[in-house]
Amino acid sequence: MADLTCQELVELVTDYLDGALDEETADRFEQHLSVCPGCETYLGQMKEARGFAMRARESLPKGSADYTKATDIVLASQPTPQELKQMTQQQGG
Ligand SMILES: [Zn+2]
Repeated sequence: MADLTCQELVELVTDYLDGALDEETADRFEQHLSVCPGCETYLGQMKEARGFAMRARESLPKGSADYTKATDIVLASQPTPQELKQMTQQQGG
């Protein structure tokens, strides 16, 4: 089986947090995290961002356009794993 790329991880991260990945994909996801500090940081940020989006959504009527948008905006504002990797490299001198 092929290794996950950072891009694939980004696409799977919400399913991962929902527990919606099958066992094999979840294994590959975690395998990538163990070798990629950028994506590990990214996952931590997405967890926090998701909690924030959940709380934001609670104040909106379910099914409204804003309900979906709230999550999208919060999640889209997160730095990508590549950006996080650059930050980590700059710090870790
Ligand atoms: Zn990665």
